[in-house]
Amino acid sequence: MSIVSVDDAAVRELRHGFEGRVILPRQEGYEEARALFNAMIDRHPAVIAQCASVGDVESAVRFGRDGGLTTAVRSGGHSVAGMSTVDDGLVVDVRNMKAIDVDPERRTVRCGAGVTWGELDAATQVHGLATTGGRVSTTGVAGFTLGGGSGWLERKHGLACDNLIAVELVTAASDLVRASESEHPELFWALHGGGGNFGVATAFELQLHPLGPTVLGGLMLWPGERGREVAEAVREEIAGGPDELALAVVYLTGPPEDFVPPELQGRLCCGLALLWAGPELGDGEPHARRLRELEPAVDLVGPMPYAELQRMIDDPPGLRNYWTADYLDELSDEAIDVFASHSERMPIPSACQAILFPWGGQVARVSPNDTPMARRDAEWVSHPFVLWESAADDERHLAWGRGISADLKPFTSGGVYLNFIGDEGQDRVRAAFGDGYDRLSRVKSLYDPDNFFHLNQNIRPAVVG
Ligand SMILES: Cc1cc2nc3c(=O)[nH]c(=O)nc-3n(C[C@H](O)[C@H](O)[C@H](O)COP(=O)(O)OP(=O)(O)OC[C@H]3O[C@@H](n4cnc5c(N)ncnc54)[C@H](O)[C@@H]3O)c2cc1C
Repeated sequence: MSIVSVDDAAVRELRHGFEGRVILPRQEGYEEARALFNAMIDRHPAVIAQCASVGDVESAVRFGRDGGLTTAVRSGGHSVAGMSTVDDGLVVDVRNMKAIDVDPERRTVRCGAGVTWGELDAATQVHGLATTGGRVSTTGVAGFTLGGGSGWLERKHGLACDNLIAVELVTAASDLVRASESEHPELFWALHGGGGNFGVATAFELQLHPLGPTVLGGLMLWPGERGREVAEAVREEIAGGPDELALAVVYLTGPPEDFVPPELQGRLCCGLALLWAGPELGDGEPHARRLRELEPAVDLVGPMPYAELQRMIDDPPGLRNYWTADYLDELSDEAIDVFASHSERMPIPSACQAILFPWGGQVARVSPNDTPMARRDAEWVSHPFVLWESAADDERHLAWGRGISADLKPFTSGGVYLNFIGDEGQDRVRAAFGDGYDRLSRVKSLYDPDNFFHLNQNIRPAVVG
């Protein structure tokens, strides 16, 4: 472990008037402050600037830039590739910027960039409102939304970024700008999936929609060998289904919970997750009823609080993570077969999951003028989600995750959703944006011409002139 020491005078100057905390190696709180969700990431920043205000963010960016420090931006800490931290550099950490202000009349929320989805859902659900958010409550609103934001409400209300009204952000020049349809419109477009490339977001304003607090949703589980039938049934149910219907197919280890029959605990299971996002719970029942005809061993689909559904698949931090993903134009029988065969070889017991999300609905009803994300008309997203405990098991788990992805390639469209992958290189970043990459690159050159913010799914600045 090498830890460079930064200039003391510069640190003193940063601390002067800083409302949050500037944490250096070996100081109290450093170990906790440097940890990310993915236990494979073990980096030692030279400085962690835990900002409490916009002024702190401006000072931190200036400090990083003037000191020539490689700078990462951290919010919820869920970057699976560890892009929100750095060895020997600066972390601009906004996790403590937690203000939430809901306007129930306008159905909008303004929140600080450190808010997690669990916190945002709790605040908006008081008013029976919600917006598309993470399926795991500890994920940060910031990284999630800037990267697109795929959640259970997406077929009805679009991705999280489609619900953006404005983003306030500090650019590489330490300027605070507000991006919306009428202010910095090109930047606003780029922030719909272009990630952390353009500055440090300090606040988000998002559109809300009536939902809950009680929704129809939950999980059904079958023994793993029934997985093909489950995937086929979900495919049939979602095809032409209303936008209110959200479904997913997931292979996982049967959890050691009372609601799981003993013979399925610790064994491979295939399940589905369902949410009905319409105003009348009863309208979702026919969908649940048809899926029940497969006689699940566990059936937890019923009325439940939306905020609880949003925590239904929460994983603990501190596990080792490898993720990848691909878009599929259709879910053919052959693709199901490949997906199922690999899932049947999932390391068991483990926290691994192999997931298929159907897209469509509002996700697909956007033009390239709305967001830079290419191939949003993909019908399905495959998402091997590999989690395990011990470094000694790395090889086996990585091989499983990579294998499922490699064998699914013939069925994929070439597009990818960047929030669901680690660091897979520039080709994948370009694949995620297609023709939109060049326009993003021009926006990057306006707001970050030196690529100061490069620890992300990086968009290289266009050479201007
Ligand atoms: C358990 C788990 C569940 C997930 N579920 C989903 C899901 O359902 N749907 C989905 O779409 N994605 C999901 N993700 C992926 C997640 O959306 C991305 O990893 C996202 O980047 C995490 O955001 P964060 O703020 O928590 O992460 P961080 O690690 O803090 O940040 C990740 C990156 O986002 C950028 N960033 C963060 N904060 C800021 C900021 N204030 N300003 C500018 N850039 C910033 C930076 O580039 C940073 O490197 C999940 C991730 C995990 C670990």
